[in-house]
Amino acid sequence: MASENDRWKKKYFDKLDEFEQVESGLKERIHVLERIVVRVSLAAEGVDKDLDRELEALRNILRRENGSSRELNQQLDSIEKKVLALDQHKQAISGGVLEALGELIEQLSQQNISREARKQLKKYGKQLKNRVEDLRHYPQLLKEFSQLQAAVLQELFSDSDGRKDKKEGFLSRLFANREGGESVVQEELEEDIEAPPPQSQDAEESRYALEVGQDAAASTLDGGNFEPGFSAIADHVCISLNHLIDQLVLPPNMLGDSEKLKNKISGGLNWYELAPTLDDVAALAIAAVGRGQREFESFLKALDERLASIQNFLQGSQANVQESRDNNAELEKSVREQVTSMQENVRGATDIDSLKCSVQHNLDTLISSIDRFMHKEADREARLSEEVELLHHRLRELESESGEVRERLEIERARALTDALTALPNREAYENRVRDEFERWRRYGNPLTLVVADIDRFKEVNDKFGHLAGDKVIQLIGKEVSRRIRKTDFIARYGGEEFVVLLPETPASIAAEVMDKTREMISRLPFHFRNEKVRITMSFGVCEFHGDATVQGVFEKADQALYKAKRSGRNQVQIAGV
Ligand code: GH3
Ligand code: MG
Ligand code: MG
Repeated sequence: MASENDRWKKKYFDKLDEFEQVESGLKERIHVLERIVVRVSLAAEGVDKDLDRELEALRNILRRENGSSRELNQQLDSIEKKVLALDQHKQAISGGVLEALGELIEQLSQQNISREARKQLKKYGKQLKNRVEDLRHYPQLLKEFSQLQAAVLQELFSDSDGRKDKKEGFLSRLFANREGGESVVQEELEEDIEAPPPQSQDAEESRYALEVGQDAAASTLDGGNFEPGFSAIADHVCISLNHLIDQLVLPPNMLGDSEKLKNKISGGLNWYELAPTLDDVAALAIAAVGRGQREFESFLKALDERLASIQNFLQGSQANVQESRDNNAELEKSVREQVTSMQENVRGATDIDSLKCSVQHNLDTLISSIDRFMHKEADREARLSEEVELLHHRLRELESESGEVRERLEIERARALTDALTALPNREAYENRVRDEFERWRRYGNPLTLVVADIDRFKEVNDKFGHLAGDKVIQLIGKEVSRRIRKTDFIARYGGEEFVVLLPETPASIAAEVMDKTREMISRLPFHFRNEKVRITMSFGVCEFHGDATVQGVFEKADQALYKAKRSGRNQVQIAGV
C-alpha cells in the first residue's frame, strides 16, 4: 500500500517538476515575445503619429508587471483600427500619385514629340498602376519620370526640323499663359501715350504725362515659384531685347510681328518665357539680315547685267570702228585706183573724145565708190548711235539704282549712329565725335569739357510706373537737355538713363553753369502719372580736358564726379578735380 502511495507521490512530484519546467519555459518565451513586440513596435514608429501613440501604449502595458490580457486585447483592437485607417490612407495617396503622374505623362504625350518618345511615355504609364502601390518604388518611379521628361524636353528644344511650334515654347505653354491680359494693358497704354488725360488742361504739362496704364503689379516680373533668380536681370534683358528689335530694319510684312513681340517684352518676361522669346527675336533678326542681303544681292545682279551689256557695247563699237576703217580703206583704194587710171588715160590720150569718155567712166566709178562709202558710214553711224543711246539709258538706270542704294546706305549709317528711343546720337556716334573734338582740342588748345549725366533713382520710376513710362522719361529728358545746349555742343545717349555732353570752346566752370540750369529745369518739369506729380531729377559730372588728358581719362573723371554727385544727395552738378 505504502509503495503504491510512494509511487503516486513520486509521479505527482515528477509532473509538478515537469509542469514547472514547462511554465518557466513558457514565461521565458512570453518574455522574448514581449521584447520582440517592443522592438517591432519601435521599428514601426514614424509612419503615423496616432499609430505611434498606440504602439507606445502597447509597450507600456507590456513593460508593466501587472498588465492584463484584457488590456492587451483592447490595445490590440485599437492598433488594428489604426493600421486599417493607415492602409486606406496609403491607398488614397498612391491613387493620387498615380493620377498626378498619369496627367503629367498625358501632358508630355500631347507635345510635338517623336513616336519613340511617345511610345516610352505610354509604356511608363502602363506599368504605373502596379508599381505605385508600393511606397518603396516611388524613388525609382520618379527618377524614371524625370528621365523621360528630360528626354522629351531635349527633343522639343533641340528640334530644328520644323516640327516645333516656334511661336510658343513648350515651357511657356506648360507654365505661362498671360497673353490675353497683356494685350488689354497694351491697348490702354498706347491710347494713353498718344492722348494725355483730359483732366490736364495745361498743354505744357500734358507733354510730360506718363499715364501708361501699367501699374507696378503689372510690370513686375512675377514668374511664379518656379522662377530661378532671373528677375534680378529681367529688366535689363527686356530693355536690351527691345533696343535690339528697334535697330532691325525689317521687311514690311514683319512689322506687325515685331510690334507684338516688343509689347510682350515690355510687359515683362519670366524665366520660362525667355527661351521662346529669344527664338522669336532671332527669327526677326534673321529676317532683317536676310532682307538686306537679298536687296544687295539683287542690286549686284543688276549691276553685273549692266556691266555685261556695257562690255557687249564696247566690243560692238570696236567692231564698228574696224568697219569704219575698212570703209575708209576701201574708199581710199577705190579713189587711188580711179585717179591712177585717169592719169594713165590722160597720159596715153590721143583724142579728146576718148579721153572725155574714159574720164567720165573713172568719175562715175569714183562717185559710186563714194556713195557706197557714204551709205555704209551712215548705216554704221546709225547703228552706233542706237547702241550709244541704249548704253546711256542703261547708265542712267544704273545711276539711279546706285543712288537709291547709296541713300539706303546713308539711312542705315545714320540709323547705326542714332539711338532708337530718343533719336539722339548713340554711344557709337559719341565715340566718333569725341575723337574729332579731342584732335581739335590737341591741335588748337581751346577749352573742351565733357559731361556725364544720369537720371536719379530711375529704377524707382520703372518699378512704380512701368518700363514704358520709364522710356518716355528718358525720351523727354533727352529732348530737354538737347534743347538747352548750343548747336556746336554735342549730346548722346550713352546707354540706359545716362547721357554724355561735349562742350567745345567751354571751360568746366561755364559748362557746370549750363548744366546746373539744365538740372534745375529738369527738376521742375511737370511729369505726372495718374494726376500725381512725379519729380524727376538728374545728376551731372563735369570734367575739362587739360594737359596730357586722354578721352578715356576725362570720361572716367567725369564719371567719378557724377558718382560724387550721387553720393552727396543727387540732383546736383559736380566738377572733377584736375
Ligand atoms: P541712381 O540715382 O544711383 O542713378 O539710381 P538708378 O536707379 O537710376 O540707378 P541704376 O543704374 O541702378 O538703375 C538704372 C535703371 O535704369 C536700371 C534699368 O532697369 C533702367 N533702364 C536702363 N535703360 C533703360 C531704358 O532704356 N528704359 C527703361 N525704362 N529703363 C531703363
Ligand atoms: Mg540713374
Ligand atoms: Mg545709370
